[in-house]
Amino acid sequence: MAKVYELIIAGGGPAGITAAVYAARKKLDFVLVTRDIGGQAAWSGDIENYTGYQFVTGPELAVKFEEHARKYQFPIKENEGLISIEKENEIISINTGKARYSTKALIIASGKRSRELNVPGERELKNKGVAYCATCDGPLFAGKEVAVIGGGNSALDAALQMVKIAKKVYLVNNTPELGGDKVMRQKLEEAANVTIFNGSRVERINGEKFVTGIGISSGSVKKELELQGVFVEIGLLPNSEFAGIVKRNANDEIMVNNACETDIPGIFAAGDVTDVPEKQIIIAAGEGAKATLAAFKFLMRN
Ligand SMILES: Cc1cc2nc3c(=O)[nH]c(=O)nc-3n(C[C@H](O)[C@H](O)[C@H](O)COP(=O)(O)OP(=O)(O)OC[C@H]3O[C@@H](n4cnc5c(N)ncnc54)[C@H](O)[C@@H]3O)c2cc1C
Repeated sequence: MAKVYELIIAGGGPAGITAAVYAARKKLDFVLVTRDIGGQAAWSGDIENYTGYQFVTGPELAVKFEEHARKYQFPIKENEGLISIEKENEIISINTGKARYSTKALIIASGKRSRELNVPGERELKNKGVAYCATCDGPLFAGKEVAVIGGGNSALDAALQMVKIAKKVYLVNNTPELGGDKVMRQKLEEAANVTIFNGSRVERINGEKFVTGIGISSGSVKKELELQGVFVEIGLLPNSEFAGIVKRNANDEIMVNNACETDIPGIFAAGDVTDVPEKQIIIAAGEGAKATLAAFKFLMRN
C-alpha cells in the first residue's frame, strides 16, 4: 500500500517554508512539494519590513528561508506542483503529474503568480525581452532601455530596481495617477532616467526574435517606444486552479477561517493564496505557522 504522510505542505514561499519548519519541530512525518523555494519573496528587491531585518534583498531572504528549512532534513520535492487534489475515506491524495502522494492533512501555500497583459506579442516574446520579475531578470537589461508596465507597488519596486541597471526606464500606467506607497513614488520621481506615462495602455509588444519596442495609447494619442525589455507588473493571480475541491472566493482565493481551515476537514491553507487580507511576507509566514499548528491539532484529534 502506498505511503500515507501525516502532512503534505504545498508551496515553498514564506508560508510553506514556515509551515515546514513548524512541522519539523513537531516531528511530523511530512513532505514539502513545491515548484520553487522562496516564492515571490525571492522576486522582491529591497525588503525593509520583515522584523529583525532592517534591510534584506528578496534573494537573500529566500536563501535564509532555505537554509532554515534544510537544517531539519525533511523531504522536499522541488520542481513539482499540485495539479489536483482528491479526498476519499479521510485520505487526501495529490497529483503532481510526476507522482501521486497521500496524506492525512494538507496545507496549501501555493501563493500567487504574475497576471499577463494579454496583448499581441506578449506570449511570443516571453523570455525574449518580456519578463515578469525585475529581481530575477533585471541584470539582463544592463545599459538597455526598458518599460515597466503597471502603477502599483510591484511596478514601483520593479522600476526602482531598473533605474539602477537600465539606461532608461519608461513606466506605463493605465490609471491617471500612480498608486503604491508614497515613499516609493517619491524615490522614483527623483530618478533622472525615468519617464512616466500615466493614463496609458500598452497595445502591443513589437519584435520578431527579441523585443524591439512597444505601442502605447492614451485616448486617441498613440506612441511607439523603442526599447529592449518589458517588465509586466500588473498584479497577481492566486495559484489555486488545482484546488477546486475547497471553497474559493470570487478572486479564486482559498477561503479560510482564523485557524487556516478550509471548508474540507484536514485541508488547510496559508499565505497569499488565501482570502486573508494583506499580502506580505511576515503575514504569509505567520499564517504558515498557524496552519501547521492547526493541522497538528487536527492530527491529534483524528
Ligand atoms: C515584486 C514584489 C515585491 C514584494 N515586496 C515585498 C516586501 O518588500 N515586503 C513584504 O512583506 N512583501 C513583499 N511582497 C509580497 C510577498 O512576497 C508575498 O506576500 C509573500 O511572498 C507570499 O508568500 P506565500 O508563501 O504565501 O506565497 P509565494 O511567495 O507566492 O510562494 C508560493 C510558493 O508556492 C509554489 N507553488 C506555486 N504553485 C504551486 C503548485 N501548484 N504546487 C506546489 N507549489 C506551488 C511556488 O513555487 C512558491 O514556492 C512582494 C511581492 C512582489 C511580487
